[in-house]
Amino acid sequence: MSKQIKFELPESAMPKFWYNIAADLPHPPMPPLNPGTAQPISPDDLAPLFPMAVIEQEVSMEREIEIPGPVRDILRQWRPSPLYRARRLEKALGTPAKIYYKNESVSPAGSHKPNTAVAQAFYNAEEGVKRITTETGAGQWGSSLALAGSMFGLDIDVFMVRVSYDQKPYRRAFMETFGAHCTASPSERTETGRAILAQDPDSSGSLGIAISEAVELAAQRDDTKYSLGSVLNHVLLHQTIIGEEAIAQMDMADDYPDVVIACTGGGSNFAGIAFPFLGRKLRGEQDVEVVAVEPSACPSLTKGAYAYDFGDTGHLTPLVKMHTLGSTFVPPGFHSGGLRYHGMAPLVSQVVAEGLARPTSYHQVECFDAGVQFAKAEGIVPAPESTHAIKGAIVEALKCKESGEAKTILFNLSGHGYFDMQAYMDYAAGKLKDYAYPDQEVAMALAGLPVVDEAAIGAGG
Ligand SMILES: *Cc1c(COP(=O)(O)O)cnc(C)c1O
Repeated sequence: MSKQIKFELPESAMPKFWYNIAADLPHPPMPPLNPGTAQPISPDDLAPLFPMAVIEQEVSMEREIEIPGPVRDILRQWRPSPLYRARRLEKALGTPAKIYYKNESVSPAGSHKPNTAVAQAFYNAEEGVKRITTETGAGQWGSSLALAGSMFGLDIDVFMVRVSYDQKPYRRAFMETFGAHCTASPSERTETGRAILAQDPDSSGSLGIAISEAVELAAQRDDTKYSLGSVLNHVLLHQTIIGEEAIAQMDMADDYPDVVIACTGGGSNFAGIAFPFLGRKLRGEQDVEVVAVEPSACPSLTKGAYAYDFGDTGHLTPLVKMHTLGSTFVPPGFHSGGLRYHGMAPLVSQVVAEGLARPTSYHQVECFDAGVQFAKAEGIVPAPESTHAIKGAIVEALKCKESGEAKTILFNLSGHGYFDMQAYMDYAAGKLKDYAYPDQEVAMALAGLPVVDEAAIGAGG
């Protein structure tokens, strides 16, 4: 049996700065637009929703942004997270490739999401905010913000997509343990929710709807702000600690990845591991190939349009330029709840549009196959979302087996699947179905995209 190799950084080596890829990209990011005027929004437009420190990060072009001491003090509980060489998986595959993975499942909520939840809770508390509203799909983001909110004395008000609220009582119990308030979305608490329930009393909800509800409530009260767990620039920024640590750990291993792989829902764990490596590539220091893996059932990067679109169903958020399936898109109820968003982070979309990352998609059954193979070899049951990254890594490793090339592959294990055992039960019982979004339906959803004259915006590339 091969010995497992673990690369652990001392606490003193935890990064002190986040990395902002906007400073190194060939073109500046396209600005978010006011949904009414289609003109770039100003930082003040965002002030009802986000604390100023977060808004400054959202538009920053600085390469390095300091991680506040109190944030580092909390992250220290599980960071630096370990990086492993997946020796037993390599052996099971019979590949000459070396496979490494960064293990973000060691956080108290079981995923990478507390990396940004802690930072966002800190900035809100600093600016005197008392309550934060948010949405959650599968429950990981709500869990992470509930945890972070309890650490900074904030009330956390979570709108949980109805289908998950019914299917995942343990996630809800987790949030409530930390004192968070959890409402099934769509709900009677907001105008958006009431309008949708009036049309469809049995609506199973979507992330787009839950975002509208959370934003609507936050905009109504001065002591309340809104928080998003993915997609936005500042969220991606807070996740770059993953890749920064991984660079140092690959150095400990006396190795460097030829390929970096992560799954993409809104894009934050992908950006977290890949952007620091891409920064080195963009600055001419070291080349790397980057692969984004999404589910075939919600294929924004591989089948969506790269266009300005709304971030939510109720059309309350600014327009951002991203890969999108259209804001009316309600993905089928497949198991990777964290990958069910209609859009993609603008920075991840830009990186893909500029040819810096290669998007791929896989079906859920083949991803669970990969996840189970990983669990048997490495001893960790991966989150359904993370199985997409594992599938991507196995495909690369098997390509190496064919070509005889001994590539170094690094993927991000974004979380564990211990709250998702129902999905594994369904998989084992053969109940999981593959679902490819029909091109015709994608085309229909995209026909409703807002019309934006990009030439008239002026800024960006
Ligand atoms: C939320 C989540 C994802 C997807 O979100 P990203 O912003 O794309 O990273 C992936 N994996 C896990 C475990 C998650 O909880």
